[in-house]
Amino acid sequence: MENKIKPGNFIKNIVIEDLKNGKHKNILTRFPPEPNGYLHIGHAKAITLNFELADEFGGKTNLRFDDTNPEKEDEEYVQSIMEDVKWLGFEWDNLFWASDYFDIMYEKARLLIKKGKAFVCDLSPEEMREYRGTLTEPGKNSPFRDRGVEENLELFEQMKSGELADGAKVLRAKIDMSCANINMRDPIIYRIAKATHHNTGDKWCIYPMYDYAHPLEDAIEGVTHSICTLEFEDHRPFYDWVIRECEMQAVPQQIEFARLNITNTVMSKRKLKKLVDDGVVDGWDDPRMPTLSGLRRRGYTPESIRTFCNEIGISKSNSTVDAQYLEHFIREDLIKKVPRTMAVLRPLKVIITNYEEGKTEYLEAENNNDAQEDMGVRMIPFSREIYIEQDDFMENPPAKYFRLFPGNEVRLKHAYFIKCNEVIKDDDGNVTQIHCTYDIETKSGSGFTGRKVKGTLHWVDAKKSLPAEIRTFEPILLDEEDDVNPNSLEILQGYVEEGLKNSEAESKYQFFRHGYFNVDPKFAKEGKLVFNRTVALKSSFKL
Ligand code: ATP
Ligand code: MG
Repeated sequence: MENKIKPGNFIKNIVIEDLKNGKHKNILTRFPPEPNGYLHIGHAKAITLNFELADEFGGKTNLRFDDTNPEKEDEEYVQSIMEDVKWLGFEWDNLFWASDYFDIMYEKARLLIKKGKAFVCDLSPEEMREYRGTLTEPGKNSPFRDRGVEENLELFEQMKSGELADGAKVLRAKIDMSCANINMRDPIIYRIAKATHHNTGDKWCIYPMYDYAHPLEDAIEGVTHSICTLEFEDHRPFYDWVIRECEMQAVPQQIEFARLNITNTVMSKRKLKKLVDDGVVDGWDDPRMPTLSGLRRRGYTPESIRTFCNEIGISKSNSTVDAQYLEHFIREDLIKKVPRTMAVLRPLKVIITNYEEGKTEYLEAENNNDAQEDMGVRMIPFSREIYIEQDDFMENPPAKYFRLFPGNEVRLKHAYFIKCNEVIKDDDGNVTQIHCTYDIETKSGSGFTGRKVKGTLHWVDAKKSLPAEIRTFEPILLDEEDDVNPNSLEILQGYVEEGLKNSEAESKYQFFRHGYFNVDPKFAKEGKLVFNRTVALKSSFKL
């Protein structure tokens, strides 16, 4: 892996220390997604951190599906998560399921009961909230807290047997209702849910709670460093309690880091799912979605995402990264790799009146830009009729407008100078065509130095170019208010060079002056050529 965790991050320092003092011989990390949605760019940070950290020290990383919530989970999510992790460039050592461990978790719950460390509670959710206390007030003991071991074992068996209704009883850890940390006030460890599980079917109607299950999963697998986001910091005492009281052999260490937030980027799975369910977007992989499959369809490369995740660093305090920072890394990556071509997004026809009718010549065009290594040349057609961009022409331009206007001369990239002589309009006064003349002496590459022009325009041949749909994007949700941005998608019918005709899905191009574009894989399957704009060429962002 070419990206390495930046030196000096505090998690890496813990690992170095643990290896040095012999606490661990090898390290094992895990990425533990819940299969209740697609992975997003925030997950990429956790994935990159876990996999690269282990990799750097010769350790291993498991992919573990945290499938303890059968009501919300789905096979489609499982498949997409595996695909996205692989796409990012990582290979897990083992693939595990939390549900693989339901038997052990159940036995450990019985162990807790036998030790007097867990009890079956009949309080309703409302009562339980009341008994829990607040940040400033201690909680009260449940009236069911002092049930005997035998009774608890029997009631827990009843919960498991399916004879009780969902929510009728729960199993709780018995810790301390007056603890300052609310997570230690006799948290629930098992609930009844008569749901069919994708893995265990109808074998279970009780399911372990996340905070109880997670430390056990880590310990069973021998995870050494269990990395999670900051909101779990207050859960760590219970994490350690479970490992200790369940008498697990391996003792994983939970370490928290700040989750990734990005400006104008909503990452909540609940909100993303709503966009999908409401049909606001074209699925989880819509190019406007911050999901990995959406970013991929948009044209992001795995390298750019990994570099971004490494460069933003690992921190102990929450902050928000500017979305332009992510864009910076995709530009940096694509500028090295992607050939440059020309495309016209909003076409305006130009007739070159002194160019021979019926003739087409082929002009040499470099495939690379100045910042790139040589990528060879291609031959592009040029004839009497071409398209330029509508906003590269103005009939009455302001001062310092160097593009085309009546009487002005500009350079056509890879071709000739042209001069605008006449403007053709429809009855409503809209410009429909412009008439120009070209100067054969000014052919690109001819070394012409006779005079200079200030503007260079991109263009495509009107007959030979390929009609194509081009899509540009803005953030879909502008803020946490869930307001959908009405301008998040713009669909343009433009023209691209004929050489792009057989572009494969996910082919990437730089369109001169427009930015970087990706051939949409979903439309490609339907035989339709659609270019998604990954990112514009420039940003105002200074690094
Ligand atoms: P939900 O609570 O809706 O299930 P989640 O973000 O917790 O969402 P998980 O599938 O549980 O989703 O996440 C898997 C892993 O990814 C967790 O270890 C979590 O800490 C990490 N993760 C999720 N979101 C981010 C984020 N924005 N930044 C960094 N890590 C994240
Ligand atoms: Mg979660």
